[in-house]
Amino acid sequence: MKKVNNIAVLTSGGDAPGMNAAVRAVVRTGNYHGLNVYGVMYGYRGMLTGDIFPMESKSVANIIQRGGTILKTARCKEFYEAAGRKKAYENLKKFGIDGLVVIGGDGSFKGAQKFSQEFDIPCIGLPGTIDKDIAGTDFTIGFDTAVNTAVEAIDKIRDTADAHDRLFIIEVMGRDAGYIALHSGIATGAEHILIPERKTDIDDVIDQLLANERRSKMVNLIVVAEGDEFGGANEVARHVKERMPQLDTRVCILGHIQRGGSPTCIDRLIASRMGYAAVDALIEGNNNVMIGIVNNKIQYTPLDKAVKAKQKIDAEWFKIVKILAS
Ligand code: ADP
Repeated sequence: MKKVNNIAVLTSGGDAPGMNAAVRAVVRTGNYHGLNVYGVMYGYRGMLTGDIFPMESKSVANIIQRGGTILKTARCKEFYEAAGRKKAYENLKKFGIDGLVVIGGDGSFKGAQKFSQEFDIPCIGLPGTIDKDIAGTDFTIGFDTAVNTAVEAIDKIRDTADAHDRLFIIEVMGRDAGYIALHSGIATGAEHILIPERKTDIDDVIDQLLANERRSKMVNLIVVAEGDEFGGANEVARHVKERMPQLDTRVCILGHIQRGGSPTCIDRLIASRMGYAAVDALIEGNNNVMIGIVNNKIQYTPLDKAVKAKQKIDAEWFKIVKILAS
């Protein structure tokens, strides 16, 4: 017995490449099971304003390869308030919606959790964030694309750094999580990687740069997560310039290019699989869980446990960075 008949899907909070692939999977899997599927524009804001429309297979044609989200995304203050959520509920009810798929980060999950506890509309979350900092899943939609964008950009920076014998300090996204920095730094052969999860002794970094200078190794890349303890690449550069004014030091902040672009194969794959699993979860009567992939298996995690998680980053990675950059 199907537990739902009319489901809605929305994208909320920070955007991430692959969200479109997830929307496509929800719509087409829903249609396959004979459900009516509705799209909600601009995340929770569209629930409040009633910006809701029916979707069919055709509505999601030609989007699997597109970055951004056709449903748009937004942050919505009113959804923090019970009155706002009630208005949202009433709008969904006008369409007979009895199940909701929320693609977003942990903020969006907090909203979904409150909503599903207050009203009779079950909610399923899909982790859409470039930071890969959500507990209960090995993958988040958008991380692989963001990290590959960073790698491509850093490779280009290395070329120019090499031509001029420069030190480049490159800032990548990651306010609370250093995964983009760690993965892109290792993949581009960075000399140092600074992330929020790990304390860095700036004197060690400078001592190593001085040692490199003594052996005429002039090209160095330092990859910094925006949320590192020093406050980003400009601050790290200030420390380095103070101690090593002779070095030709440049800063490059990659910024929003990391959010855009065509999703990689991995992001399309996990978004498709998670979107498909979300509809299954609603049909089976699940509520208030996030769909994750752990050890290549779909896993449900209660939304209140699928929070931003500082994961332990194995110290061995930093040994590898040091050895391989020597
Ligand atoms: P992300 O989902 O990327 O973490 P945000 O933290 O901005 O992004 O959350 C997206 C939206 O989810 C918010 O604008 C708000 O509408 C809703 N939301 C976030 N936290 C809560 C909360 N504690 N209660 C109710 N709604 C919330």
